[in-house]
Amino acid sequence: MTPKHIEEQYDAVIVGAGAAGLSAALGFHRSDAARGLREAGIEPKVLVVSKLQPLRSHTGSAEGGIAASLADMEPDEWRWHYYDTVKGGDWLVDQDAARLLAEDAPMTVINLERSGVAFSRTADGRIAQRRFGGHTSDFGARPVKRAAYSADRIGHQILHTLWQQCVHYGVDFAEEWVVTDLVLDETLTHAAGVVAFDTHAGVTHAIAARNTVLATGGAGRLFHTTSNSHDLTGDGMALALDAGLQLEDIEFVQFHPTGLAHTGILLSEASRGEGGVLRNADGDAFMASYAPGHADLAARDVVSRAIRSETDAGRGVADPRDPDGPKDCVWLDMTGIDPERMRRNLPQVVETIEDYAGLDPAKDLVPVKPTAHYTMGGIPVTTDGEVYVWDGERRNIVEGLYAAGECACVSVHGANRLGGNSLLDACLFGTRAGQAVAARVAANPVGAGTPSDPTLEEALDAAKTARDADIDALVTGAAGDAGDDDDNAYRVMADLSETMERGVAVLCDAGSIARAQVVVDGPIAERARRLRLHAEARAFNQELTAIWEARHLVRLAEVMLAATDARHESRGSLKRTDFPERDDGTCLNHSMTAADAAPLRQPVRIVDIEPGARSY
Ligand SMILES: Cc1cc2nc3c(=O)[nH]c(=O)nc-3n(C[C@H](O)[C@H](O)[C@H](O)COP(=O)(O)OP(=O)(O)OC[C@H]3O[C@@H](n4cnc5c(N)ncnc54)[C@H](O)[C@@H]3O)c2cc1C
Repeated sequence: MTPKHIEEQYDAVIVGAGAAGLSAALGFHRSDAARGLREAGIEPKVLVVSKLQPLRSHTGSAEGGIAASLADMEPDEWRWHYYDTVKGGDWLVDQDAARLLAEDAPMTVINLERSGVAFSRTADGRIAQRRFGGHTSDFGARPVKRAAYSADRIGHQILHTLWQQCVHYGVDFAEEWVVTDLVLDETLTHAAGVVAFDTHAGVTHAIAARNTVLATGGAGRLFHTTSNSHDLTGDGMALALDAGLQLEDIEFVQFHPTGLAHTGILLSEASRGEGGVLRNADGDAFMASYAPGHADLAARDVVSRAIRSETDAGRGVADPRDPDGPKDCVWLDMTGIDPERMRRNLPQVVETIEDYAGLDPAKDLVPVKPTAHYTMGGIPVTTDGEVYVWDGERRNIVEGLYAAGECACVSVHGANRLGGNSLLDACLFGTRAGQAVAARVAANPVGAGTPSDPTLEEALDAAKTARDADIDALVTGAAGDAGDDDDNAYRVMADLSETMERGVAVLCDAGSIARAQVVVDGPIAERARRLRLHAEARAFNQELTAIWEARHLVRLAEVMLAATDARHESRGSLKRTDFPERDDGTCLNHSMTAADAAPLRQPVRIVDIEPGARSY
């Protein structure tokens, strides 16, 4: 797909080809603004850069569903979805954004269906929906079937459909190109574009763009046990930090309760939605006592903490593959689900259990433990995807810079995301970002190829020169002049992820955070700085990408630990045992953290739902 000569001057460059990036590309091309440009004889130039082949993006592994109050199976309303999202996020949600999410969700799902997503159906042909934790009708009264699904492969369906539509619209792709730098002007008010490394040719490109959209996904690889694919190293967030920008609420990481014991691979929440039950070593279905009413389908942070409480109290089980190992798992009991229905509705879950654990979920209990799953925080954006800097009083937009999907924080997930709301966030706000970019291009339709501001071009050029020098240094090191030959990026990432897991996974306190900080800010950061290549080749040298990924993870870990340390309360996914209560008096605000700086605080946008109790 990569064109022979990618022209390095674009109306928009989109970094990332998951649900968010592809939705942005389609949002752009399908917008009235883009149509207007074409009618005026101007063909806008949009490029999607992805370090993976697009169809390998993590979106493709999403299993359970996408949330929308379609009311296909039972009564439902967007207002209930809105309320659940705010409450599920432990009231740290910006309500203007969450309202938009819930209100536009049905339209988003219908648009996906019209684009070609093959949703599972009811007997009478409507889009089928299933239960997901925290989704209720009548403002918390009872669980509701709100997640539209496609067996347990919804992400695969959405990713392939969006990609096919992008091909239809003639979107340009630069595949297996790694973006290494986001370039802004000195005052952080204008974006110039990006520097990207073509891994096939082994050369860097300075890509000038009047608009840049970051859609690089999450950062699960910060933790040892994670459901995330290997590429999810928080690149976009680290690029933003390196450019001098802030991250919002980066201390909130969701641990999904049901990672398959020794791998962390996700067993979808749909396994409990379809009737699976968690049991401790004594065989007790313990969730009923932690979350009466919601039990196994309570919000994910609640279930993950309940599992940790059970294992801490000695009621955990060991992974049968390692019977003498730590008893840090509980059982997922799916034996009560009709086997035929299980194979029909949960084929991916069944296959994963069979292939990776050698167990039969129709007969065997399956060992599970919490796995790092989703980064609620990220690059701060408005509901149109515009990136901004919070100066303590107001939002200052960075002209020409946008972000969407898991790397962004529009703050619809607050301190804890509800299942099914992430694909929705990526598709809906990705589309809105694409539309906003098109409107910005149409407002100033100078046509493609027009040189941008010379100072921005200079900044871009300087960034490319610096990156080339960085690569030269890494290659020189490979010849043995510098660096520690025994160390490598994979080891640094493994040690970092174990440190983060010990320090801040599921539960933490000032002591555990400080211990992690000593290691991350000290030896691990130093090792990341000293990394060198073990082979001189620039083309197809995966270690080069790994070094940049390791540096990104370290940068992100430093900021995440600082933000975690600065939040003196427990809320949603963040449980500080030294500050066990939620503190709305002083902490009902977003943390806005730049590298090497103490977090600033931005008030939560409350529209019409006052913070209350969270009863599950
Ligand atoms: C196993 C699993 C199951 C899930 N199930 C569900 C579910 O059922 N429902 C739900 O709502 N959510 C689910 N989620 C969450 C949801 O899938 C993700 O949050 C969402 O798909 C993220 O989309 P994205 O477009 O932001 O990022 P991704 O799909 O992760 O795509 C990131 C893109 O960025 C590119 N990229 C990254 N860094 C660079 C770089 N430096 N240079 C160039 N390109 C770069 C990658 O190549 C990739 O194309 C699940 C997540 C996981 C891990």
